This record gives sequence, structure tokens and C-alpha cells, in this order.
Amino acid sequence: MPADIQIAIVGAGAAGLAAAIFASEARPDLHVVLFDSARSLGAKILVSGGGRCNVTNVDVASKDFHAPSRIVSRILQRFTERDTVQWFESMGVSLKQESTGKMFPVSNKARTVLQALLHRCEKLGVEIRTHHRIQGVRKTHNHFALQTDKGIFTAQHIIMATGGRSLPKSGSDGSGWNIMHHLGHTITECDPALVPLVLSEGFFHQDLSGTSHEATLTTTIDGKVTDRRTGSLLWTHFGISGPVTMDASRFWVKGHTQGADTTLSMSFFPTQSFEEVDRWLVHEAAHDRQTSLMALLSKHLPHRVAKTLCAYLTMNGTLPVPPHAANNACSAVSLRQLSRTTRRRVTHVLTGLCLPVERARGWNFAEVTAGGIPLHEVNVNSMESRKVPGLYVVGEMLDCDGRIGGFNFQWAWATGYIAGSKVGRGL
Ligand SMILES: Cc1cc2nc3c(=O)[nH]c(=O)nc-3n(C[C@H](O)[C@H](O)[C@H](O)COP(=O)(O)OP(=O)(O)OC[C@H]3O[C@@H](n4cnc5c(N)ncnc54)[C@H](O)[C@@H]3O)c2cc1C
Repeated sequence: MPADIQIAIVGAGAAGLAAAIFASEARPDLHVVLFDSARSLGAKILVSGGGRCNVTNVDVASKDFHAPSRIVSRILQRFTERDTVQWFESMGVSLKQESTGKMFPVSNKARTVLQALLHRCEKLGVEIRTHHRIQGVRKTHNHFALQTDKGIFTAQHIIMATGGRSLPKSGSDGSGWNIMHHLGHTITECDPALVPLVLSEGFFHQDLSGTSHEATLTTTIDGKVTDRRTGSLLWTHFGISGPVTMDASRFWVKGHTQGADTTLSMSFFPTQSFEEVDRWLVHEAAHDRQTSLMALLSKHLPHRVAKTLCAYLTMNGTLPVPPHAANNACSAVSLRQLSRTTRRRVTHVLTGLCLPVERARGWNFAEVTAGGIPLHEVNVNSMESRKVPGLYVVGEMLDCDGRIGGFNFQWAWATGYIAGSKVGRGL
């Protein structure tokens, strides 16, 4: 008996929509069906990039991803950021570049992106079945049987695009991995990535909520520096967020979940070493004999940060409080009065403050998943499973996560393109 459907795509997120479009464009006569458990499509696209959808980046390379770089490069070369720009242009969506390299729709609205993808699907005759949750997939000798909550469908080929576990209320709850596991695939350990970090209650983050500045974050696992990166850090009521935190989070989370001794430290002086900052303090003390640490820090950091840091240095005893100074040693003590030991202790805080990270903020706040199906279990020329012929895997289901900046969508478009056009042409 012939299968009901020629190409069934499970999951109508970014990768699934791209796969459906490219499959139908390759062979407009094919019956392509997109299944999604959600009632309305594209929840993740709509919230992405703060509601603006950071569609891609002006410069995408394998170094922007956490996965074997040779394999990632081969995939990215097949559908580049320039292809993404042209593709969206062909759907009536012009993209613009921002100073960070991120690319957004000119409309500044994620809805423009989603509507364009859905409109193209409609034009190509892709059948979209929302509110159809795939519960299992069985391979028979000549087709696949998809068990859904609305009955069984048969398909000649399946493209799995169910995403990871980030933002589960959007429909991406990791259920696709169970299906893949039953079909013989490995699923590596999955952790939230691009996720804000929660600091211990009582630490000074609450006083700085809403303030951002450049910082360097260093993750150390069992005494070894695993990651160091610089960027904008945002203090929040629960801890830290902002691009540098989001990018660093996967390293802290991995170390922490593996039970290793994991620390995250920050420098308020990203471009300078401990010795350089210390020499600077000595120089400033000699130059302006009356200046206080508070006055000096306020020249280099947002005033609120300088003030909070000073209160912290006083409270934790780094700065001894002179009898006349009430509680504020920072403004009362001139730099010149600091002993060498005290000054170097201050420098330690300025360049390597150990942050009391309690946990990541969790899947509801993570933008992406670190972990999934190892890339070596798919053929990168087609995204076809090496274990089950006729089965393809795309997007966040794969064990490859990009840094912040439009890289994860580029991964979704590129893998969707490879699988969709290959299956379409092959039939
Ligand atoms: C808040 C937020 C902001 C983000 N901002 C950006 C950004 O600006 N730029 C960027 O590059 N990346 C961003 N990302 C990451 C990006 O959204 C994802 O990497 C990308 O959407 C992954 O696409 P996907 O199609 O693989 O998976 P998903 O988008 O997760 O889609 C999977 C789909 O599968 C469906 N599904 C799941 N299980 C089943 C099942 N059993 N049966 C049927 N359907 C199922 C789900 O309902 C869902 O629609 C952001 C993520 C979040 C959470």
C-alpha cells in the first residue's frame, strides 16, 4: 500500500518550516505535510530576538558553534548567511544589519518572518496539521508509520524537526528525542544553554538590577579555565543576564551538572590584567593624592556599579572602615592611604570577583539546548540518519548550539535547506 504522505515533517519551527519549503520547491508535485503539536505555530520565532527575530548574522562560521567544527563548516557552507538574506528577500522580507553583526527584519517584527514562512508554505501547497502531536514513529519495510494523538499516518520519508527543550511552553519539550532514541539514535546529555544565571540571595545584584556594562566572565572547572569571554553583562533582580552571561552559561551549566568544582568569576576591567589594574591604582594614587576609590571607580564604571562595589568591598572587609567614616570606607579613604595588601585585595575583586552562582534559570528561560543527536549520526550531505534510511534530522534536535547573535536560526535554516532539498530532489 502506498504511503499517505511523501514527506512528513515533524515540528513546524524554524527548521521544519525551512525543510518543508525547500522540499516543496525542489518538487512542487510532492505531498509534503508538516505536523506540529502546538495549536498555533511559530511561538519561538515570535519571541525571538526580543520580538524582533535575529534571523542570522553577517558573519557565520563554525567557531560560533559548539560542535565538531569540520562537520559544522560543511553544513554552513551549503546554505550561508548570504543565502539566508537572499531567501528572505525572495519571500518579501528585507534584512538589516546592526553594529553587532546581528541581522533583523527591517520591520523589526518577528511576525514578519513567521508570516513570510507560512505564506510561502501556503503558496507551495504544504499541508500544515497543527495540534497533531507525534507520539511515536515506526519503520516498516517501505514506509514510516507516525503515531499521532489523532490517528496513524504513513509517510515515505520523515524529517524530524522537534527542536530541543528550551521554552517548553512553545511545544518543544524534548519528546522528539524519545522517538529518535527508539529508532536507535544516541542522545547526548542535554542542558539549557544561552540561559541567565541565578546568584545567591543577598548578593549585591539586586541593587544593580537593570544596569549593564562590559565585563569579562571566566568559567573555571576543576581548577582549569574552560571559557573566557567579554561582552555586555546585565544585572537583574535574580542574578546576571545579557549576551556575555548567556554565552558563558553553557560552560558553567555543563561543569555544574557534571558535579565538577565550577566557578564563574568576572572582571570589571575587561581589557586589563590584574597587574595592569593594580599599577593603574598605584599611578592614580600618586597622581591625585586625595582621590578616593569611589571617585576613581565612578570614572570607569556606571556610578551605580561603583557605589555598589564600594559598599561590597567595605561590607566584606576588603576595605577597613576608619573610625570617622561611618560605613563608607570607599569615599572616606583616599587611594594613597591603602596599604599594598589592601590595594591588591581590591584589585582581586575588580578583576576576578567570584560570582555566587546558584543555578541556571532553567528551560523556561533558556534560548537553546546544549546536547542532542550527535552530528556523526547523520550524513551531513543530506541530514539523513546513518541508522535509519529515509529519516532526516534538522535544527536544535542535533547536538550543536550556537552563540547568541542569530547563529541558531542560521543553523535551523541551513539544516532545513539540506534535508528539504535533498529529500525533495531524491524522490
Ligand atoms: C526566547 C528565545 C529567543 C531566541 N532568540 C533567537 C534569536 O533572536 N536568534 C537566533 O538565532 N536564535 C534565537 N533563539 C533560538 C532559536 O529560536 C532556536 O534555535 C530555533 O527556533 C530552533 O528551531 P527548531 O525548528 O530546531 O526548533 P523549534 O523552534 O523548537 O521548533 C520545534 C517545533 O516542534 C514542535 N514539536 C515538538 N515536539 C513535537 C511532537 N512530538 N509532535 C509534533 N510537534 C512537535 C514544537 O511545537 C515546535 O513548534 C531563541 C530562543 C528562545 C527560546
